[in-house]
Amino acid sequence: MADAVDLRSDTVTKPSRAMREAMARAEVGDDVFAEDPTVLELERRAAQVVGHEAALFMPSGCMANLVAELSHARRGDEIICGTDVHIAAHEVGSGAAVAGVQLCVVPGDGRISAEQVAERIKTPTFHEPGTALVWVENTHNMAGGRITPVAEMRHIALVARAAGVPVHLDGARLFNAAVALGVPAREIARHADSVSFCLSKGLGAPAGSMLCGGAAFRERALRFRKMLGGGMRQVGILAAAGIFALERNVERLAEDHARARRLAEGLAGTKGLDVRPEDVETNMVMADVEGQSADDLARRAEARGVRFLAMSRRRVRFVTHLDVDDAGIETAIRVIREEAAC
Ligand SMILES: *Cc1c(COP(=O)(O)O)cnc(C)c1O
Repeated sequence: MADAVDLRSDTVTKPSRAMREAMARAEVGDDVFAEDPTVLELERRAAQVVGHEAALFMPSGCMANLVAELSHARRGDEIICGTDVHIAAHEVGSGAAVAGVQLCVVPGDGRISAEQVAERIKTPTFHEPGTALVWVENTHNMAGGRITPVAEMRHIALVARAAGVPVHLDGARLFNAAVALGVPAREIARHADSVSFCLSKGLGAPAGSMLCGGAAFRERALRFRKMLGGGMRQVGILAAAGIFALERNVERLAEDHARARRLAEGLAGTKGLDVRPEDVETNMVMADVEGQSADDLARRAEARGVRFLAMSRRRVRFVTHLDVDDAGIETAIRVIREEAAC
């Protein structure tokens, strides 16, 4: 399906010709020996952009998150997080299986408040696990790309730090939050002790995530990356795509956000579909399907060249990204309206 409008995820973006040319030009070396100049340059830039001391190039966001869990927590420790965060919902239980941590999930749509965190921070006793980490996902994927505002991030960090507990920011889509709020990414990231972000989503790189934090954190993370088999060799080829993405594909996220809003407005009022344009803050639109299953709607639209995911029996998700243009959005609106009303 060459001309499909693919709204399944912002992970489906393909590297542009210019990005591929940057990859082809990359100087490389053995990164396990810390000798790949392009990886070192990407790590320097990533640390700078989030305002942290150091950064580590990771093969994936899932590995970045697992390494963050391993680096901050011991077996049996607890991590406070929101509902349906990626580590709870979409990482195959790796935190439990590999890091041995348990999650203390705050009820709600996935965004958490400082007050909710304060109520749940525990010091270990004879009976209770201790809180090792507070986990904030911003933007929050399953909440529909919703943003935790900077002021709330600051309050969460204050509460956590007062208790001696670090904060990890799963910023897979940190730059979507930053662009939507009109603030530099570091203004959000400074309220966390470690930060992961994806190069492979809206930023358009073919692979890779960054894990950022202090120098001592990076040292710990480096050993866990190696333990998990995440040490890579002449990977400057991928790092070059990451540098290109940070230079060229951040500001343009605003276009994805505008298209998501246009999509939500175009779908509002459709029979058989409940969409709330006012909930669209970044590059995602969530909708509840009525009169058929979410899977059925997704299948019917796919047969007409419009792809998106059913997230549950009732709920579908549309994600905009750099490979979806205005014409694609108009096509999607037309097809989804027709198929939802059937
Ligand atoms: C995509 C995503 C990740 C990491 O996923 P990878 O596919 O492993 O890069 C982590 N957290 C969130 C919130 C995500 O959406």
